[in-house]
Amino acid sequence: MLSIKNLHASIGDKEILKGINIEVKAGEVHAIMGPNGSGKSTLSAVIAGNENYEVTDGAVFLDGEDLADLAPEERAHKGVFLSFQYPVEIPGVSVTNFMKTAINETRKANGQAEMPANEMLKVIREKSELLEIDRKFLSRSLNEGFSGGEKKRNEIFQMAMLEPKLAILDETDSGLDIDALRIVANGVNKLKSEKNAIIVITHYQRLLDYIVPDFVHVLYNGRIVKSGGKELAYELEEKGYDWIKAEN
Ligand code: ADP
Ligand code: MG
Ligand code: MG
Repeated sequence: MLSIKNLHASIGDKEILKGINIEVKAGEVHAIMGPNGSGKSTLSAVIAGNENYEVTDGAVFLDGEDLADLAPEERAHKGVFLSFQYPVEIPGVSVTNFMKTAINETRKANGQAEMPANEMLKVIREKSELLEIDRKFLSRSLNEGFSGGEKKRNEIFQMAMLEPKLAILDETDSGLDIDALRIVANGVNKLKSEKNAIIVITHYQRLLDYIVPDFVHVLYNGRIVKSGGKELAYELEEKGYDWIKAEN
């Protein structure tokens, strides 16, 4: 589904990604871990098409299609979802209305009719129950005065509503208490299917107790320096990142 080949990306004259190769198949969960400043957020931003970064070599393919010429919105419409480490506030737009617009824009971009209002309400009800989100929350202004946990929960709600082909969760676990973490993980696990793939970016192993990855990659200094199964996450938890730094 997602194929990242020899990806190099820069910001200004600073090269941040220095030749990344990752293959993600449908149905898989990949975790990307690594010390701060390794390039994890840059990698997710480049996959999503953030135009602040320049791809200087290599490419990102989604279902065989080179994404290079696609704007972030076009990638989103093709099913690429990136959670935001620092979500924006949109005063006056409720969580529900934001979701309705996002869903209908995606459908329109894919040549589908708008979702009928009754179906929309049903889906919103189902997904919000799944994520233990209460009614009051749905009518609040997007991200305005949201606690860290509420922001994260809202991101996962968006993800559950949009049912993306490829979901990238960038440090969705930071700032979550254990209950919120469990709810977020539940949402992610329910989204998981044979048709989509999930990339979980995290600094800590904790989230991976709840969202069990098929593969773990360690990103350090712009390169994947180690890949393995879920046991690699435990090894990192135990030993920290210093040995990775020493080896590279
Ligand atoms: P991580 O998510 O692994 O902590 P980032 O991708 O955020 O790492 O950052 C990787 C490196 O790129 C860091 O050295 C960071 O300072 C640098 N970097 C990221 N974004 C920018 C930017 N907009 N301008 C300048 N440097 C940046
Ligand atoms: Mg960071
Ligand atoms: Mg980051």
